[in-house]
Amino acid sequence: MTAFWTEADFDDHEFVHVVRDRVSGLTAIIAVHSTHLGPGAGGTRFWHYPNPKDGLRDALRLSRGMSYKNAMAGLPMGGGKAVILADEARTKTPELLAAFGDAVEGLGGRYVTAEDVGMSEADMVTLSGRTSHVSGLPVSGEDSAGGDPGPFTSYGIYLGIKAAVKHRLGTDNMKGVHVAVQGTGSVGGGVARLLAKDGARLTLADIHADGVRALAEELGAQVVAPDAILTTKCDVLSPNALGAILDDESIARLDAQIVAGGANNQLARSNHGKALFDHGTLYAPDYVINAGGIISVATEYLAGREGRHASRDEVNALIEQIPARLESIWQASAADNVSPDVEADRMAQALIGRG
Ligand code: NAD
Repeated sequence: MTAFWTEADFDDHEFVHVVRDRVSGLTAIIAVHSTHLGPGAGGTRFWHYPNPKDGLRDALRLSRGMSYKNAMAGLPMGGGKAVILADEARTKTPELLAAFGDAVEGLGGRYVTAEDVGMSEADMVTLSGRTSHVSGLPVSGEDSAGGDPGPFTSYGIYLGIKAAVKHRLGTDNMKGVHVAVQGTGSVGGGVARLLAKDGARLTLADIHADGVRALAEELGAQVVAPDAILTTKCDVLSPNALGAILDDESIARLDAQIVAGGANNQLARSNHGKALFDHGTLYAPDYVINAGGIISVATEYLAGREGRHASRDEVNALIEQIPARLESIWQASAADNVSPDVEADRMAQALIGRG
């Protein structure tokens, strides 16, 4: 692996820690972009990368995204992200998780972890046996915040989609508004369920054909093949699978008024925000709209450090600020004639002292 600071995605990250444990087979990358506002917080991704460089690239991009996300969510947290480089069979053993937990603990609280793709609440419990710098643990009471951040992320995205529909289509009523959801896992599935309650028209796609068909049946939604969802004619495209899906080719073929979803780093490259803007599509910057999970995780972690439990109301009140934040970005974008992602980055950079 070449020096990480020569990578195109390196952005003055404070540190990048490579963890190898021969006994358990663990290889992980922990990247902390900024601790300007507080400890670098962000989930751990468990994924098989045929080329480990792609794992490093994800850690660098995602940790910077977390700095921006946490700042824009109003949290006293910096940005970090960990990637566990899974083998092809995605073998996840207690020993491997224990070694990873030890590595997080060894950073002394400069990095705080939680769930991301491929990591569950149960995995967080395993990690908590080795480190106190973990969040997203099971809730102790119905009213307590915490646990799987997925539903909180879904709630924020749902509110953000409604804000985008109001901004672009001029209506508060989601009945019949056509939303195409890419990825119906923890986040996308939750978004689809919330939208279905409002009577939105849903088209769903996921590479897990059985799961998406069952959800579609439950919600009265349509299903299209994974390679057809990005070109589905709709009001809102909601990407909730993996990143880098908006590139020259997909934007040219996009037939949506709005792109608003939870996947991290949806823009393949930074110029694709302008490409979307020029295409006439309203974009909800991913790290602003998908902050619900980190708001829950951070609020749970910070309350725990004070020896108390945060309540769901406390978390939801913070998540309910997402629509206003998006609206201020869209207004600034229109006033300055720059794309919303650039406007959001400017706001975030000012907050983390890099403006
Ligand atoms: P998940 O693993 O539960 O769901 C992802 C889903 O996407 C899976 O069902 C998978 O089959 C599907 N998928 C993968 N490739 C696909 C493709 N090409 N086409 C269609 N479907 C595809 O993960 P999640 O927790 O729901 O996270 C989804 C996205 O949201 C990720 O980018 C994640 O980083 C981001 N995110 C998650 C959270 C959270 O709280 N879980 C918070 C912020 C951002």
